[in-house]
Amino acid sequence: MTSVIDNSTKFPCVSCHTDCCKEYTIFVNAHDVHRLSNGLNLKPESFLELIGAKDYSLGIKVEEGLIDLALKQKNGACEFLEETDEVFRCTVNDFKPGVCRSYPFEMKDGKLSQMTDIMCPTDWNLDAFEKMMIPHLKEDKSEWEFYDRLVKEWNLKYDGKKSLSEFLKFMMDKVKLFPKVL
Ligand code: SF4
Ligand code: SF4
Repeated sequence: MTSVIDNSTKFPCVSCHTDCCKEYTIFVNAHDVHRLSNGLNLKPESFLELIGAKDYSLGIKVEEGLIDLALKQKNGACEFLEETDEVFRCTVNDFKPGVCRSYPFEMKDGKLSQMTDIMCPTDWNLDAFEKMMIPHLKEDKSEWEFYDRLVKEWNLKYDGKKSLSEFLKFMMDKVKLFPKVL
């Protein structure tokens, strides 16, 4: 049986300087935060950055304002990126957010496809990654849908009258109740 990732020509990250971890703001959902928090044994507040939400209907309403949650950055990159002269690697590979696991793929007309305008140095072999990426993309979509419902419920209940730490507790408790949403 052929391995899914059988050589570096099929896996562009091997020869890349991880531009995706530097250029993008990594927005996270409830399951992403839960996995990182449990996996690293860290409080969500320690690795989250608050970004002013642009979409009033989707942003989280807390005392601190209308916000979205993203990963903190350090030196112009995700703070979980380790970068030396020889090494570029994600230090939270086992718990990294869904958007990181799925990049640069998307589903188009029911088929795996590569996003347009990707930062990767070469094209990806879609056939080789189909088996791995389609379940990731489905899971990620379900987790974002769950998160959208969770935020709407919170906003409706509290309308900005409770703090971010109360929202994070509400969010983590919901994920404990629904660890799998696919
Ligand atoms: S930009 Fe593409 S090739 Fe480079 S690390 Fe990110 S996903 Fe991998
Ligand atoms: S969590 Fe890992 S893969 Fe995602 S942006 Fe940070 S370093 Fe890159």
